[in-house]
Amino acid sequence: MRLWSRSRRDEGLTVGLVPTMGYFHEGHLRLIEQAKAIADTVVVSLFVNPIQFGPQEDLAAYPRDLARDRAAALARGADCLFVPTEGDMYPAPQVVRVVPGSLADHLCGARRPGHFEGVLTVVLKLLNIVEPQVAVFGRKDVQQAVLIRRMVGDLNVATEIVIAPTVREADGLAMSSRNAYLTPEERRVAPALARGLEAAHAAFAAGVRDVGALLAAARAPIEEVGALALEYLEIVDPVSLAPSDAPGEESIVAVAARLGAARLIDNVTLGEGTSGDVRVGA
Ligand code: AMP
Repeated sequence: MRLWSRSRRDEGLTVGLVPTMGYFHEGHLRLIEQAKAIADTVVVSLFVNPIQFGPQEDLAAYPRDLARDRAAALARGADCLFVPTEGDMYPAPQVVRVVPGSLADHLCGARRPGHFEGVLTVVLKLLNIVEPQVAVFGRKDVQQAVLIRRMVGDLNVATEIVIAPTVREADGLAMSSRNAYLTPEERRVAPALARGLEAAHAAFAAGVRDVGALLAAARAPIEEVGALALEYLEIVDPVSLAPSDAPGEESIVAVAARLGAARLIDNVTLGEGTSGDVRVGA
C-alpha cells in the first residue's frame, strides 16, 4: 500500500484517504467524492477494526459486502481500495496504542471504554501506511472527528484532516451502516432522533439559551418513541466536548440511543443547525 501511495506521489499526484469499516451508504460515498475533489488520487480503506469494539459489542455481526462496496467506491471516484486483513494490521497484539486523554471522557467515550483508543490507533496506522496529504472523515461521528483532528495536531501528523457534513435520509435519519440492524417498524420511528436535534436547533434559533430548556425541546420527540432508549443527550463544547452551561453558536447537541439491536448516534451544531447537513432524496 505504501509503495502504491509513494509511486503516486513520485508522479506528482496528491493522495487522499477515506478510512471506513465498509458496508457503504451515501454518507461514505460522499466522503469519497469530497476526497476526490481535493486530491488527485483517492485511497479508500475498508477494515472492521477489532480493537475499537468492546467485548459485548457487534464486531461479529457488523455488516459486510465487499463486492458491492468495491463497485460503489470505484464508481464514485476511488482509485485504490485498501482492504487489509486483521493479520495484516495486527500481526502481533497491539501493545503501543494512542491514548485519547480527556476528550474520550465524554459522550460515546464515557460509554465505550477503549473505543477511541482503538479508533485513534487504527487511524494513525492507516495514515502511516498510506501517507496521504489529506484524509476525510464524517461529521456524523463528531467525537471521532474532534479526536482525530486533535491527534494529528498533538502528534504532528503530516496529513490535513477534512470533516464532511452528515448525510441523512430524506426523513432526517443520519445514514449509518448500523441502520441495517433496524426492523421496518424501528426504521419508521428512528428519525425521532434527528427531529429532537432539529427541535433544539429551532429553539436556539428562537432565542432559547437555557441548557435545560434546549435539552427538553430535544427530548420531547425522542421520548414520544417508547422503543428509543436514550444513552445520552448533551450540549457540549466543540473543543473540549465537556457539557456546556452557556450554549453558543458553536455548541454541539449530541445524542446516542439504542433502538432494538442498533445503537444510533447523531449531532448538530446549534448555530449552524441542520443546514450544514445533506439530505438525500428529500
Ligand atoms: P464507518 O464505516 O461507519 O466507520 O464510517 C467511515 C467514515 O464515514 C467515518 O469518517 C464516518 O464519520 C463517516 N460517516 C458515516 N456515516 C456518515 C454520514 N451519515 N454522513 C457523513 N459521514 C458519515
